[in-house]
Amino acid sequence: MKQKILMIGPLMALVQEALAQNYDLLRYWEADDKDALLAAEGAKIKGIATDGHLGASRALMDRLPNLEIIVCQGVGYDAIDLEAARARGIAVTNTPEVLSNAVAELTLGMMIGLCRRIPQCDQYVRKGHWLKAHYPLTAELTGAQVGILGLGRIGKEIAARCCAFKMQISYHGRTQQANQPYRYYSDLVAMARDVDWLVVIAPGSAETQGLVSREVLEALGPKGCLVNVARGSLVDETALVALLTSGKLGGAALDVFAQEPKVPEALFGLDNVLLLPHVGSATVQTRRAMGQLVIDNLAAHFAGRPLLTPVA
Ligand code: NDP
Repeated sequence: MKQKILMIGPLMALVQEALAQNYDLLRYWEADDKDALLAAEGAKIKGIATDGHLGASRALMDRLPNLEIIVCQGVGYDAIDLEAARARGIAVTNTPEVLSNAVAELTLGMMIGLCRRIPQCDQYVRKGHWLKAHYPLTAELTGAQVGILGLGRIGKEIAARCCAFKMQISYHGRTQQANQPYRYYSDLVAMARDVDWLVVIAPGSAETQGLVSREVLEALGPKGCLVNVARGSLVDETALVALLTSGKLGGAALDVFAQEPKVPEALFGLDNVLLLPHVGSATVQTRRAMGQLVIDNLAAHFAGRPLLTPVA
């Protein structure tokens, strides 16, 4: 008999097709009466397939007494109640590594886009302004100081690309890492004070909530730029908007926000801001690799093999 898997939201077609073929797949988002679905099927559900945004709550786990595994399409698992999963002995997997290049290359794209004003230049040409005057001068990355908050898998890929752009690199994390050529700061405010760019790429968690505080943003200052490709929860968004609006922060390139998909409208009119709809890993090749990991982790679990990418 096929195992029952609850898919929380519509994961990519590749995953839906593979799971529908190999399991008894329940599409949670399509159920008009979710409560009735859980009442009828909850005890038979062995696995949850979800993503970093949809996650899996403690309340949902409470309804699935025989749940064995949660597979998450995404490296960030902050939307999954890990404590609840651990307490119930439920395995959790994510999709690390395979998305690091895509996120890192987008990060550099955002930085260049912001400092060279690429979206504005495009509008300048389309609107015919170039016929009347040259576009004003901008800034460049070459030689600038970048501080990376979270020199993990993605942070290291970002650092490598910043090196290629001849930037000076430093990082902040809870611990100094051996064999890293970059300057370590144990104090995030001190790093923010010294750099031109602060790139945020640490996980969302209770510990990192609001880590990029008003004090950090003020230290970055009117000539500094914030890049957030991690989670909106890491940044004090109210302070961010206030400082950008008042010119006390130089600029921001943001892929993630506190209340996605809602973005503070105060940012829409600002020239020193680049806004993206959480597309860090959203390329065809990376999403395929992430989807394949979801499929392979589920297969490994039900075959009694070790999981490929368990959350530690
Ligand atoms: P890793 O676990 O490899 O790296 C995380 C880094 O963050 C580590 O270097 C760690 O260093 C640091 N860190 C963790 N906690 C803290 C803390 N409390 N204070 C300071 N630094 C901390 O993760 P990845 O690089 O694979 O991914 C990072 C995050 O990027 C994901 O969790 C996800 O939320 C986000 N992401 C966003 C995407 C997007 O679409 N925009 C796509 C993919 C990922 P140390 O342990 O020394 O503190």
